[in-house]
Amino acid sequence: MSELDTICAVSTPAGEGGIGIIRISGVNALRIVSSIFKPRIDKNLDAMPTHTIHYGHVVDPGTNDVIDEVLLSLMRAPKTYTREDVLEINCHGGMVPVWRTMNLLLAAGVRQAEPGEFTKRAFLNGRIDLVQAEAVMDIITARTELSHQAAKEQLLGGLSAEISGLRDRLISLTASVEAGIDFPEEDIETETGQAFAHEVSSIIADIDSLLSSYIYGRVLRDGFATAIVGRPNVGKSSLLNALLKQNRAIVNEAPGTTRDVVQEYLNISGMPLKILDTAGIRHSHDAVEQEGVQRSLAAIETADIVLVVLDGSQSLTDEDRRVITEAQDKLAIAAINKNDLPRKLEKLVWPDVQVEISCNTGAGIAALRDALLNAMKQGAVAPREHSWAVNLRHKTALEQTRASMERVMSSVCSNLSPEFIAVDLRDALDSIGLIIGTTCTEDILERIFNEFCIGK
Ligand code: GDP
Repeated sequence: MSELDTICAVSTPAGEGGIGIIRISGVNALRIVSSIFKPRIDKNLDAMPTHTIHYGHVVDPGTNDVIDEVLLSLMRAPKTYTREDVLEINCHGGMVPVWRTMNLLLAAGVRQAEPGEFTKRAFLNGRIDLVQAEAVMDIITARTELSHQAAKEQLLGGLSAEISGLRDRLISLTASVEAGIDFPEEDIETETGQAFAHEVSSIIADIDSLLSSYIYGRVLRDGFATAIVGRPNVGKSSLLNALLKQNRAIVNEAPGTTRDVVQEYLNISGMPLKILDTAGIRHSHDAVEQEGVQRSLAAIETADIVLVVLDGSQSLTDEDRRVITEAQDKLAIAAINKNDLPRKLEKLVWPDVQVEISCNTGAGIAALRDALLNAMKQGAVAPREHSWAVNLRHKTALEQTRASMERVMSSVCSNLSPEFIAVDLRDALDSIGLIIGTTCTEDILERIFNEFCIGK
């Protein structure tokens, strides 16, 4: 276990709440916290067993001022989140007690933690691998039950086991090839025959199977990007409201982001849908309307699915035609709105799925929701045996691994010397190691953990 400095952070969100938790981790955690914590009953914290809770006060050692009445959790290494000594101070959940306590810790020599630094230590100290560390963040940001389920299975090691299993098989292949290179005098036959080739193609197939979970994973993590488009007054805003009324997902806004409109997510049977350009939909009656269908067209480009809203009580206009033309290459559903009024809209040949709805009466909204779910299932097939799925970082590394294995295969087929095969196998091992973190550089770690919130 590496010896790192002692860090602290407020682990609960900023603002007022029942409790505010400060987490401290590191070799000096116990000593420093003991200098600012006075237990109610006189006792020596140093002599207390691990995983115990102590009632007392945080006291400014300089002035003897009582800062707050707190509960202190004491967890000794190695059975802790970071594998270091971890202490958690439960203060009253106001900004002042929490930050006065933090300031005492900082003055006593504890460093303020970077985003994700506790989880990074759990990784560096070998408690979890990188894939599990990423799952922690996925759990925090999960917007639906399915997203949460996938992240949880990933944290428990489902995906890690798959990757480690593949890595072990690559190690065996590499060993068998390198044995022949390293000990030619021993006359060890380099194993690049039929069984070897079979194993290489079996590994490639397993990589493909992992890669096939990527789109599902992207949808679980980021939401199925949905553009609700149409000319002004067809009912886009009414439709969004109707859908949100019953299917709003739990939204977890990243602190510190300044958005004029909150990103809206729908939860359709556990699958998250991210609504694109809510600003364009919501503001369709003010100055933004001047932009006409321009905003719709921009949203179509990045969408996984386009919900083309049409006014069923009117004939198709040129603006409608323009939206339809732009959406033609996309997975799309037509929502033919205002079916509480007599239909004047012509029969459409596209898209295949057309649902008549009325945002006023609520008719057809459930059918539209089902159509969205079907389309989502078509676009992002869920893996059968498990719910975890690879993310973009895993996908990139898997594709590199796969490319190396393709080269191994072609060397085997062309009877190239084992040295060539060994080089590509080594590359494959490096690439797959990036995923769980066996081969990993500081900049990769930084990129991963910078996404985290402070205090996790
Ligand atoms: P947007 O400009 O496309 O966002 O359209 P809105 O949602 O703002 O709706 C435009 C107008 O159509 C508003 O006056 C709504 O009340 C009306 N509207 C929306 N949905 C329906 C519907 O299902 N039936 C009828 N009769 N009117 C609707």
